[in-house]
Amino acid sequence: MDAESVAAEVRNCDERNTVLEARGVTKRYHLGEVDVHALRGVDLSICQGQMMAIMGPSGSGKSTLMHIIGLLDRPSTGTVMVEGEEVSQMLPNELAAVRNRRIGFVFQSFNLLARTTALANVELPLVYAGVSAAERVTRARAALEKVGLGDRIGHLPNQLSGGQQQRVAVARALVTDPSIVLADEPTGNLDSVSGVEVMRILQGLNEQGITVVLVTHDETVARHAERIVRLRDGLLVADEEVEQRHVATAHVDGAGEAALAERTAS
Ligand code: ADP
Ligand code: MG
Repeated sequence: MDAESVAAEVRNCDERNTVLEARGVTKRYHLGEVDVHALRGVDLSICQGQMMAIMGPSGSGKSTLMHIIGLLDRPSTGTVMVEGEEVSQMLPNELAAVRNRRIGFVFQSFNLLARTTALANVELPLVYAGVSAAERVTRARAALEKVGLGDRIGHLPNQLSGGQQQRVAVARALVTDPSIVLADEPTGNLDSVSGVEVMRILQGLNEQGITVVLVTHDETVARHAERIVRLRDGLLVADEEVEQRHVATAHVDGAGEAALAERTAS
């Protein structure tokens, strides 16, 4: 199938609302003399309440696409809509407001502040949002409880395992009550047991109605989503429904059995 015919086959959301939409998105980076064409015309509709995985080889443009749909970066050409709002022409402060209100991010390397407790890390987005100190503590604590870390709120990142640090990062993504969570290789730095635990949390959020988009190069991780899109050389080359979706059923305290508890949905 050539690029044009794939691009023409955009999957629309039909009866579901479209929460994120990219149309004709391209991204070029100029590195000295070199011109890198990271995205070469991507059309993508992400539906409300959907859990979607973006796959593709290293360098295919996954992170670039995630940064653009997450409003961390702008396309070179093309448009991005968030919940029906065209964002491509917004001013930086308007963009930041939409992002802070609607989108939570999780990164492969956790991106927690060292020498800062789990609680304070999770509070941070609320500091930027101007929430009062007392309310910040209440909400950050609740978010940490939600990811099974209610008993670790005073720990520093280096006193937590990788899996726990990523759960703190998920709590930080959640604390602003976003409608969309974007996760770029969230299990990439984790052992398989911790990875299942993070996927269980992401699936739980999705069950509560949050739209989840995750980038991964692990087919098993991707199969926790209901839909997989594949990028190659900056183009969307496939858009599939997952038939036998994986359900992560690990328990926070049952770490040893977590991987075994992985099962396939019927
Ligand atoms: P992936 O996440 O799929 O590995 P990326 O989106 O990170 O891919 O990168 C896509 C392409 O764009 C790669 O060739 C990469 O080297 C290039 N690229 C990404 N970010 C930048 C940047 N800030 N400056 C220059 N080139 C970049
Ligand atoms: Mg990447």
